[in-house]
Amino acid sequence: MVEKTLAIIKPDAIKKKVAGKIIQRIEDEGFKISGLRMLHLTKEEAKGFYVIHKDKKFYESLTDFMSSGEIMIMILEREDAISHWRQVMGVTDPALADPGTLRQIFGFSIERNAVHGSDSPTTAEWEINYFYKKEEQ
Ligand code: UDP
Ligand code: MG
Repeated sequence: MVEKTLAIIKPDAIKKKVAGKIIQRIEDEGFKISGLRMLHLTKEEAKGFYVIHKDKKFYESLTDFMSSGEIMIMILEREDAISHWRQVMGVTDPALADPGTLRQIFGFSIERNAVHGSDSPTTAEWEINYFYKKEEQ
């Protein structure tokens, strides 16, 4: 089924100047990119985006990190986009991510792990709505 998912290139990857390599991989994996935008989240915007994690011990640090510099957000479209993008990213901790996954290649730590992807259809819809008006989706 053709699906949409939300992808983010996180501040660590932008600072390392590997956004181009990540976008190339996205295209090589057959995704259609739409709504690509560069932004710098405020702390409040980062907290809103990660509100599902508000009770976790990493919430403050994560939202500091996510508001620490520019990010790129995009909607990715493909057959099974949600699960395929999660596979291409690798698991959350770069040290445990499979060889060749983006987090294994470009991630620095469990927090500074280069990329984000929605984890389910419900989350993808919620996350796309967080950043894009209906007519932009
Ligand atoms: N994170 C962290 N410490 C942890 C777990 C997660 O700093 O112990 C950060 C990391 O940047 C991760 C984000 O919080 O990507 C969201 O966590 P989640 O468990 O949803 O991981 P993901 O879905 O991004 O793999
Ligand atoms: Mg998640």
